[in-house]
Amino acid sequence: MKLTHEIVTLGTKHAFTIARGGGSEYRVVIATITDRDGMTGVGEANPSRFYGESADTVPAVLNQFAPILERADAWSFDAIESEMNKMWRGNGSAKSAVMSALYDLAGKRLGVPLYKLWGLDPAAAPLTSFTIGVAPEEELRRKVQEAAEYPLLKVKLGTLNDEDIIRIIREEAPDKTLRVDANAGWTPKHALDMIALLAEYGVEFVEQPLPPENVEGMRFVRDRSPLPIIGDESCLVSSDIPGLQGVVDGINIKLAKCGGPREALRMVAVARAHDMRVMMGCMIETSVGITTAAHLAPLLDYADLDGAALLAADPYRGATIHGGVFSIPSGPGLGVTKA
Ligand code: MG
Repeated sequence: MKLTHEIVTLGTKHAFTIARGGGSEYRVVIATITDRDGMTGVGEANPSRFYGESADTVPAVLNQFAPILERADAWSFDAIESEMNKMWRGNGSAKSAVMSALYDLAGKRLGVPLYKLWGLDPAAAPLTSFTIGVAPEEELRRKVQEAAEYPLLKVKLGTLNDEDIIRIIREEAPDKTLRVDANAGWTPKHALDMIALLAEYGVEFVEQPLPPENVEGMRFVRDRSPLPIIGDESCLVSSDIPGLQGVVDGINIKLAKCGGPREALRMVAVARAHDMRVMMGCMIETSVGITTAAHLAPLLDYADLDGAALLAADPYRGATIHGGVFSIPSGPGLGVTKA
C-alpha cells in the first residue's frame, strides 16, 4: 500500500478561542492509502501543539510510516498499529490518519459502513453538543443565537470572565443543556467555587478543571464536586484510564490524541471496565475526521463532535448534524466524499 498525504488549511466561521488561546486558521493533514489494485481509504490528522504535533510534524511522521504500509497487507491492522507505536510514541493524530484510512479501505472492500463493521446501531448515537468558544459579550450572544438548532451547548471557560460568560449564555439559552470545559484553566480552590456556581446554573458536567499533571488536585475536586468531572487533557490513551479511577467520572476520547479508531475502541472498553462515562470530542476537523468519530458515536454517553460544523467551508461531505442529531453515512467505509 502507498501512503500519501495533503495538508489542508481550514478556516472557521468565527475565531475559535479556548483557555490557552485560539485562532481562525487550522492546518490538518488528509492521508490517503492506496492498495495495489488502486482502492483507496482516507483518514485525517488533526495535530495539536498541546500534544506535541503540528502540520509540520505529521507529514514527517507519515513519511516514516510509509515503508510500514508499503510492506503490509491491508488487513493487518494489528501489525501496522504496533509497528507505528514501536517507531514513535505519541503522534496520535498521525497514527489516527493511517488507522482511519485503513478502516475506510476495509469498509469499502466489504461494502459496509464502519458502524456495521463495528456492530453498532447508528440510532443509538447520543445528541452532539455545539461548542461556544471564549468571546466578548456581544459575540457570545450571537454565537448562542446561531446555535439555536442545538439542544446541547458546550461552553469553553477557564478565563478571567467565567462568571460573566456562563451568565450570558444561560440568559441566551435558558432551557438548553449546558456542559462546561475549563481546558485545565482553574486551580483546585477556584474550581470548587466555579463548580458550585455552575451547579446553580444547571450545568450537566465539567470537563478538565485542572491541568493534567495535577492528578491529586483533580481527585480533590472530584471528591467534593456536585457535578461529574470528565478528563480530556488527562486522558490520551487507554493505559491512562486505570490511573484516573477516583480522579474523574468519565473520559473524553479524541482520535487525534489516541491514535485512531482501534485505540478508541480499547478506550471505551477500559473506561467501561472502570465504571466511567465515555465522551468523544474533536478538534477543528473536516468531515473526514468527524465522520470517523461519528461511526463510533453509538458507543458514547456524550458526543461533542461539532468540529466540521464550526468550519467556514468543509472540503468533504460526510456525517451531518441536524438539531444535534447525527446522520451517519450508510455508504461503504467512512462514506465520505469530496465536497
Ligand atoms: Mg476538552
